[in-house]
Amino acid sequence: MDDVIVVGAGPAGNNTALGLASRGHAVTVIDARQTIGDKLCTGIVGRECTRRFPIDPSLVYQDAAAADVTAPGATDVRFEASEPQGQIIDRVAYVASFAQRAQEQGANYLLNQRVQRVAPDAHGVSVVTDQGTYRSRAVVLASGFGSPLTRQVELGSVADHVTGAQVEVSTFGATTGVSEEPGKVQIFVGSDVAPGFFSWLVPTSPGRALAGILARRQAPDHLSKFIQQLRRDGKIDAVVRNSACWGIPLRPLKTTYKSRVLVAGDAAGQVKPTTGGGIYYSLLASEIASEVLDEALSEDDLSASRLSHYQRRWKALLSKELEVGYSARRLFEALSDQQISSLVIQAGAKGTHNDLFNSGGLSFDWHSKLIGTIIRHPVMGSALGIINPLLARLAQSSDQLPDQLSDLSFGFSSVTSSLPDPLPDSSS
Ligand SMILES: Cc1cc2nc3c(=O)[nH]c(=O)nc-3n(C[C@H](O)[C@H](O)[C@H](O)COP(=O)(O)OP(=O)(O)OC[C@H]3O[C@@H](n4cnc5c(N)ncnc54)[C@H](O)[C@@H]3O)c2cc1C
Repeated sequence: MDDVIVVGAGPAGNNTALGLASRGHAVTVIDARQTIGDKLCTGIVGRECTRRFPIDPSLVYQDAAAADVTAPGATDVRFEASEPQGQIIDRVAYVASFAQRAQEQGANYLLNQRVQRVAPDAHGVSVVTDQGTYRSRAVVLASGFGSPLTRQVELGSVADHVTGAQVEVSTFGATTGVSEEPGKVQIFVGSDVAPGFFSWLVPTSPGRALAGILARRQAPDHLSKFIQQLRRDGKIDAVVRNSACWGIPLRPLKTTYKSRVLVAGDAAGQVKPTTGGGIYYSLLASEIASEVLDEALSEDDLSASRLSHYQRRWKALLSKELEVGYSARRLFEALSDQQISSLVIQAGAKGTHNDLFNSGGLSFDWHSKLIGTIIRHPVMGSALGIINPLLARLAQSSDQLPDQLSDLSFGFSSVTSSLPDPLPDSSS
């Protein structure tokens, strides 16, 4: 009997396995895929992520040096920090590197096997796959977005999500030999391209880029419209890998543990609701999962009460980001194109730009402080205040921010309650 079976060999599962195996526990990771980490993703991570969870430099395509934001009817605005904030990476290889290290520490990997059932009992957990039944003392569900396994163990499913759709494209550098501006990420907002969310064009290897979109409904249709527009604007040449769709959770599970069971990563909804980025938070949460399980296994106490330490710790780290980010996300969905454009223009205006960058709130992975800075900002905050008077009041009492930020979800609710209930289409 293994100490722990981990379901899913994404960032969350591999990092849990690495943490446990390197502390001497017997771990088996089971994944339905043949290729580890090969899941739809753009592969942008913050510098903080790759500093904390180091990456082989050969897996970094390029630094994300600048982001150009295109809004309807506005001139493009460039956001560029003095130091690149993010990196565009080979996600599949990065995720696989955690699995390799876990295997070097003794973790056992079973690929091409789908877990069909997880049944905890008083003495252990039975994990039933399409090829057999395995037993362990505990299980970690790191099975990604929309996993039915969390419902099966009665921990429910995430309350809100968005669909991401993406294609790989060739850019003109490939055919003309004209070198493209390295590390320039392009973001597009507005109801025409990405209602309520955003679309992107992210360069990877020379002459190649990823074009994608987040949308609550009909993501593939929005994506093909977006691709046509990129072609018309001469930004891309051809689609080289067809469109794929996958869901991104926007809310965490209420409970991410029970006796002998922990849930981590997308399966738990540990994702930035502002951008949909989840690699770093999955790694952080899975690190906590492996530490808590290590102690619980050593004490031979895998009760719900012992494993609740996992939820307490990851919530202490991420909860405020998830709450404030979700509130900001819902507010953004309520903005008209005109309001979005005016915010983008103001963000790019002389002065504002510096204010945002010098506030100390600019961080690739931690957005609540930046959201606070925007709300407090004399120009941008007043624009938002027209939409929600509570924001205007908070912006005036600037010394109370950002501590009050986590209360903002209540303020936002007056805006967001007028939005339709999220009814995202199903992801393939
Ligand atoms: C279009 C798109 C773009 C994105 N871009 C970014 C980005 O640029 N940066 C970023 O940080 N995040 C991005 N994300 C989010 C990121 O990909 C996820 O947050 C991250 O992969 C979550 O890791 P995970 O380990 O929780 O789950 P996953 O990476 O989804 O891994 C789950 C694993 O579980 C396996 N599995 C599922 N069910 C079973 C089963 N029953 N039996 C066996 N195995 C099973 C799957 O095969 C999979 O390998 C993007 C997401 C999408 C959809």
